[in-house]
Amino acid sequence: MKNLDQRNQIIEYSLKLNSTNLSPLRSGNISIRTKEDEKDGYLITPSGKKYETLKPEDIVFMSLNENAENEVSSNKPSSEWRFHRDIYLNKKEAQAIVHAHSPHATAVSSHGKAIPPFHYMIALAGGEDIKCSEYATFGTHELSMNIIKALTDRKACLMSNHGQVAFGENLSKAFELAQEVENICHQYIIALKMGEPKNLSLSEMKKILEKVKNYKSG
Ligand SMILES: [Zn+2]
Repeated sequence: MKNLDQRNQIIEYSLKLNSTNLSPLRSGNISIRTKEDEKDGYLITPSGKKYETLKPEDIVFMSLNENAENEVSSNKPSSEWRFHRDIYLNKKEAQAIVHAHSPHATAVSSHGKAIPPFHYMIALAGGEDIKCSEYATFGTHELSMNIIKALTDRKACLMSNHGQVAFGENLSKAFELAQEVENICHQYIIALKMGEPKNLSLSEMKKILEKVKNYKSG
């Protein structure tokens, strides 16, 4: 089977979506950028299958320049394949994507606002705040475009009334970032219970962003 290691990795992390409570039940989806038969594309979790039953052949390969409707495959990709494709097309550095309806990120996303720098860990997503993409129906081109906008200079964002999405240079990093976003949202909700938190200044966040960049390359 082609790209067996990557298919197994997707299954391993799909199970982790449940065990870490990042995405309960069947919500959420995972993909890895890859090539098959000289075609640039990505492997993605299928639609409507329980994670614990996934086998390597259930993971769907999608070409970057085709739509799901054109794919000859017995398995259907996740109904949210479109924004995975559009992130790969727009973000060269994205090698893997984790999308989750994690409880705290989803709760914060229902307010449709960016998370301000109440904690310096916000910088892990790449900027001085974590943006929230505008609402659009799942699976639509409009939702993809809203997400790409919210991901400007960022590796993660919230999605209004939906959840969150994170990408990375590999699946382990994308998954860890999604977990960090969930944790940050949990802390933010607790902080809001005491009123509006005091945020770090833009100049302090610029310092932090510089440190995070050096830390990663060093
Ligand atoms: Zn979703």
